[in-house]
Amino acid sequence: KNRIFSGAQPSGSMHLGNYLGAFRNWAKLQDDYECIYCVVDLHAITVWQDPQELIRQTREAAAAYIASGVDPKRSVLFNQSQVAAHGELAWVFNCVARIGWLNRMTQFKDKAGKNREKASAGLFVYPNLMAADILAYKASHVPVGEDQKQHLELTRDIAMKFNNDYGREVFPLVEPVIQKEGARIMSLRDGSKKMSKSDPSDASRLNLTDDADSIARKIRKAKTDPHPLPDSVADLAERPEANNLLGIYAALSDQSLEKTLAEFGGTDFAPFKKALVDLAVAKLSPITQEMSRLMNDPAEIDAILSEGADRAAALALPVMEEVRETVGFLGRRA
Ligand code: ATP
Ligand code: MG
Repeated sequence: KNRIFSGAQPSGSMHLGNYLGAFRNWAKLQDDYECIYCVVDLHAITVWQDPQELIRQTREAAAAYIASGVDPKRSVLFNQSQVAAHGELAWVFNCVARIGWLNRMTQFKDKAGKNREKASAGLFVYPNLMAADILAYKASHVPVGEDQKQHLELTRDIAMKFNNDYGREVFPLVEPVIQKEGARIMSLRDGSKKMSKSDPSDASRLNLTDDADSIARKIRKAKTDPHPLPDSVADLAERPEANNLLGIYAALSDQSLEKTLAEFGGTDFAPFKKALVDLAVAKLSPITQEMSRLMNDPAEIDAILSEGADRAAALALPVMEEVRETVGFLGRRA
């Protein structure tokens, strides 16, 4: 079986974009792949996280995976900081990746903002840690949203350079698994920005913990344009907000954008938004409920994550031995 690795940062509330672009797909992939799903807390601290909040959000992320259908028995589910291989391999990759490569990463530019000198060094080398996450398990496939494509290409560059520098085929070249529907959900306030945990505006996203009232309010307030909905997909090109809301409807109802337009083309936003509220509440409330059930008993989640960490560490062990030997790190006596 091919092996999958993927993860999300416990850096805030998990949202609809994470669900449609990642978690929902992760659950499906369990049928065809050996899956490793990680709550990447080492990545989260590239920007400041309150320690108590980080613990809570780590559990909440794990709860979101499980509520979305990730089965901790079939898949390896753990949080990154419990497995030392991630940080260790990331250091080696810090020495393989070139500063020029990292300078081209658009996510760093977006997240660091104007004051780049004040960003953490970790935020800059973030893609090297992501490469380590994947390659510590020699994963062959990585499902990610559109926003992570560039980082995945960097992972391939790192694997290639490592293999080339040391003259050994240690690492595979990973393939992205990018699905069409839901690959890029945009902010409810601004159709040109992706929906993100780190967006300071809570109204910009539907959190997986939002109750029905909040969902309704946020969709009602979601930015639109003054025209009725178009009849054809081509006419959505210049209308990012309409495109996003229709795309969300299509993804949540598992139908094509064309079919969605056949249903709502020519109508105003108001009746469409009503239908979208009903659909979003129907699809998200079972997830919200399951998450809250799991969060009521952190001991259960903590046990799942520790057990997953043991399994993950065992999978990374032979890879890290190979890396140490390849690089020329003198080992301890057995
Ligand atoms: P942050 O703002 O802290 O970076 P995020 O919302 O971008 O948070 P991540 O933890 O970086 O979430 O990403 C987790 C997974 O969710 C990744 O696979 C990513 O591609 C996917 N994802 C994130 N945002 C979206 C989105 N708006 N649409 C579709 N997929 C998304
Ligand atoms: Mg992100």
